[in-house]
Amino acid sequence: MGSLQLKSIRKAFGDHEVLKGIDLEVKDGEFVIFVGPSGCGKSTLLRVIAGLEDATSGSLQIDGAEVINTPPAKRGIAMVFQSYALYPHLTVKDNMALGLKQAGTDKQEIETRVAKASSMLSLDPYLARRPAELSGGQRQRVAIGRAIVREPKLFLFDEPLSNLDAALRVQTRLEIAGLHRRLKATMIYVTHDQVEAMTLADKIVVLNAGRVEQIGSPMELYNRPANLFVAGFIGSPQ
Ligand code: ADP
Ligand code: MG
Repeated sequence: MGSLQLKSIRKAFGDHEVLKGIDLEVKDGEFVIFVGPSGCGKSTLLRVIAGLEDATSGSLQIDGAEVINTPPAKRGIAMVFQSYALYPHLTVKDNMALGLKQAGTDKQEIETRVAKASSMLSLDPYLARRPAELSGGQRQRVAIGRAIVREPKLFLFDEPLSNLDAALRVQTRLEIAGLHRRLKATMIYVTHDQVEAMTLADKIVVLNAGRVEQIGSPMELYNRPANLFVAGFIGSPQ
């Protein structure tokens, strides 16, 4: 569960075409990284996959079923953003539980799932705190916890570490890699950070101006870049 197939996905805002026909296959359980220059369409592509933006045309299948017209809540996807978007007036526990409450999940089931996510993310000591009483790294862990409790088959991360300082980025990156191993879920992850891309990815998708330049494993892209753009992007420190 959690495979994804995109065919000729296009997205325009007015007459500005941002995604110019994206084809992509993601296997169940894969860790896929999107890289590319600012403005090339990475966030838009994640938002189209999540259903937060409608594609202008194209096909999007999850586990073989067309979902292009399926509302976001029914796609089995959870998205983690760069800004944590936590509710300031709710405790950590209630922030993690809110989505499940809204979905009408059984109370005991909510308790179980929140406890599991909290333990996985070492958030137990902070469950009664409010977001303002947490560090940036802890807040981002709560945002990840909020995604985990929904037990999605597909996680989308949009530059989740870019608001964290260098040491926390390394620690949180290792935690995300650990979560991927434990949850065995499919993860698609946007980053500007080459180290994140090279260490986390099974597969890297290099995007440029709304198109895919190359898809391959970190080593394939590094050793056999398809063109100068990919060579420049993967090879150069950023
Ligand atoms: P990236 O995440 O790769 O930096 P984005 O997907 O955020 O790029 O944006 C790609 C392009 O789409 C940019 O030119 C951006 O200005 C434009 N864009 C994104 N969202 C909207 C929107 N809601 N309305 C109009 N233009 C948008
Ligand atoms: Mg973006």
